[in-house]
Amino acid sequence: MEKQDSKKVNTPYLLFEGDQRLRTLVENLPGIVYRCKNDKDRTMQFISNECKWVTGYSPEQFCYPEGITWRSIIHPLDRDHVWNTLQEAIGKKEKFHFKYRVLDSGDKVHWISETGIAVEKKEGTAYLEGYMQDITAQITGGNMDMIRDRALDEVSNGIVISNAQLKEFPIIYVNKAFERITGYTQDEVIGKNCNFLQSDDRQQKEIKIILKALLSKTPCRVEIRNYRKDGAMFWNELSITPVRDTKGETTHFIGVQNDITQRKNLELLRKAKNDVLEMIIKKAPLNYILHRIQGVLEEQFRIGKVFFLVQDTKEKKTDRISGEKPWSPLVKTMDAILAEPGSSPGLQAIQSKKKEIVTDISKELSWSGHRDILEEAGVLSHCSYPLLDSENQILGAMCIFFTDVFHQDPERESLLGEMGNLASMAIEQHRIREKLKKNHEQLEAYSKNLEKQVKRRNKDLKKTLKELNMSNFELLTQIAETKASKKRAEIQEAILLAIAQNFPKGAILLVDKDMHINFMKGTELKLLQGQVNSKKIASIDDLDGFSTKDKSLLQHHTDQALKGKHLSFEIEHQKNSYAVNTSPLLRENGEVSLALLVMFNISERKQNEKIIFETLKKEKELSDLKSQFISTASHEFRTPLSVILSSASLIERLNDTDKSERRLFHLERIKSNVQHLVNLLNDFLSLTKLEEGETKAVYEHFDLLQLAKSLIGEIQEIKKKGQTIELEYSGAEMDIHLDPKLMRHILLNLLNNAIKYSDEGQTIFIKVEEGFQTIQIQVIDEGIGIPEDDKPYIFRRFFRAKNSINVPGTGLGLNIIKSYTELMGGKLRYESKENQGSSFELEFPKSTIRNEKSTDY
Ligand code: ADP
Repeated sequence: MEKQDSKKVNTPYLLFEGDQRLRTLVENLPGIVYRCKNDKDRTMQFISNECKWVTGYSPEQFCYPEGITWRSIIHPLDRDHVWNTLQEAIGKKEKFHFKYRVLDSGDKVHWISETGIAVEKKEGTAYLEGYMQDITAQITGGNMDMIRDRALDEVSNGIVISNAQLKEFPIIYVNKAFERITGYTQDEVIGKNCNFLQSDDRQQKEIKIILKALLSKTPCRVEIRNYRKDGAMFWNELSITPVRDTKGETTHFIGVQNDITQRKNLELLRKAKNDVLEMIIKKAPLNYILHRIQGVLEEQFRIGKVFFLVQDTKEKKTDRISGEKPWSPLVKTMDAILAEPGSSPGLQAIQSKKKEIVTDISKELSWSGHRDILEEAGVLSHCSYPLLDSENQILGAMCIFFTDVFHQDPERESLLGEMGNLASMAIEQHRIREKLKKNHEQLEAYSKNLEKQVKRRNKDLKKTLKELNMSNFELLTQIAETKASKKRAEIQEAILLAIAQNFPKGAILLVDKDMHINFMKGTELKLLQGQVNSKKIASIDDLDGFSTKDKSLLQHHTDQALKGKHLSFEIEHQKNSYAVNTSPLLRENGEVSLALLVMFNISERKQNEKIIFETLKKEKELSDLKSQFISTASHEFRTPLSVILSSASLIERLNDTDKSERRLFHLERIKSNVQHLVNLLNDFLSLTKLEEGETKAVYEHFDLLQLAKSLIGEIQEIKKKGQTIELEYSGAEMDIHLDPKLMRHILLNLLNNAIKYSDEGQTIFIKVEEGFQTIQIQVIDEGIGIPEDDKPYIFRRFFRAKNSINVPGTGLGLNIIKSYTELMGGKLRYESKENQGSSFELEFPKSTIRNEKSTDY
């Protein structure tokens, strides 16, 4: 035994190897003899062959290590009970005895009665040894077939058992529920194959599934359309289970039926409703949707025929929409009824918006003309449902011609109501779609029109664009030209600016109407800006260096230029002279925008002009001098010469001694005239010397009074009759430091004139006065005086006053002595009144520059 334990392989044969009689006994006992470990699995070490007939498993299957455990076949509900009972008994070291269920290899329940005891082996290991008996028959009472039949008849599912071992699997048993569901009796179906239940509906895929399961002897479960004895279809939920015998061979098929028609119908109905809804959502054509609804209703309840009347609100007519395969005679009848005003089925429903019921069409008088056809078609009653839109406006009616007598069926009512709603929804949607389509068409037409307009506009636009392009091109050309002009203008402006900046000896100014200087350039700019160089010159008024007069002249002429005048004038700026030209600058419209002032420094030119003028003046004077000299000379020389000539002739004839007085007279005259000529020539000579700058003053100290007295003495000879010369002075002498020769000439000339231009008997005064710094000498006469008009010219060469024409003279004397006086730093002035007399006054400063050269004249 120990040896076998260690191998863990125990067979009944090994266990009882040594005792054939015991082995025979064990094998023939009506129960199971065993020894197992006290573990949860109850691992078998030995089990007798009887186990095979009770459990369906062989002793080897239990005893091999990887085999079946006893625990695994104990009914799950009894496993704890078995374990607890065993442990309790072992604990008490008592025998154990109890009943429990096991499941055989075919899952069949067997009641087991077990009796045994724990056997202690070495090291406290306990083994259980005992005997088991199948007491199923005792427990269940033994009349199982009858009980089973009764039980099967009680279940609501149809049960059909067919022989799996015979061809065609004939039915050997059906229960009452089968008879109730199919309408067939047990007698009618025993021996038949089940497929009669499918009638002619043999194309179902489920049939193939069933066949496959039957042939392969495997279970299957399908939902299949079956037909009752009366031909009515019902949905059968069928489960087929193969039944195997103890040898594992399939002996029977058990079919369990479940009539699921109602559920299936509901499912199909739900699907149909969903289909309809989907069609509505997918915008299927109205006809299709209504046909589908018709199909659903007609199929669901086999109620007869469904029509839809759809109101055409615009055309004010009612269209009939019927099924795809119209029930021809009824459709014709329907059309005929519709054609009759006031008698149409559904019209009342349309008018009243309420359900219209004709319970018995034989009593509907208005349909009397069509009654035969309706009856022929099996129509017994009628019902119309109004179809309303979401705003409760009538859309049409759903009309049903029933092939049964009208009866209240809530299920049917509900389905009709639902389908009516779906139909309403479809029609409303159809109308909206139609309207949308129309709108769309209108929109399309509008769009086309718009497109046309756009095309036309595009054409115009293209034209305009072309023109624009052209003008743009012209514009570009113009821009190019403008740019070129601008460039030219810029170059010109630059040139002008350069010219303006470099404008020689002057400046260029641009002045606006507010007298603001907008532009001022030129080489003389700094000169003109002068002291105000640092401050900003904004207007003409800001310019410094001009006299008030010249500035106002400048402003006035600028103003005139701004009024359009061109002016030229001269102004002085500090020590410079400027020639100014003012011109208006015109805008294109002829308006004066600015005044242009061009200032040119003419100081040098002016200076030159002055010199030229002076030269010219001198030349003129010289020319005048020459002509006057010629006329004077011819006159002045002719008179004394003719006197000399006549006196000489007379002297020639006066040879007599008594005529010596006369001769002397003439000789005197000759002498006098020769003297005059000499004086005349001296004057010319003096003039020439002065002109050439050869006359220089030679200063000496001399007594002026002495000189005056000497001259008075010399001049006595030329005095006129009765004339007196009086010298007025103070002191004994008057020393002066001047050129005595020039002084003599001056005084002589003044005295000579005083004598010439005074009458006989008149007095001539010489007044000599010595002041603090000067010496004054006055020669005063009471003569003819000088006319007012001639006074300005009295010192000019050859000028002679008009009242002195009859007095001989050259008009040179005063001019010469004035030059002599000034040469010595003195002044010669005079006062005179015509016919009253003249007073010539000499004034010399006491200090004079000494000239070493002697005067030579
Ligand atoms: P001349 O006496 O030779 O004519 P002057 O040069 O001496 O030339 O004088 C210029 C002129 O001035 C005279 O012609 C005369 O008309 C006027 N004149 C000069 N002295 C006198 C005077 N004392 N009284 C009046 N007229 C005078």
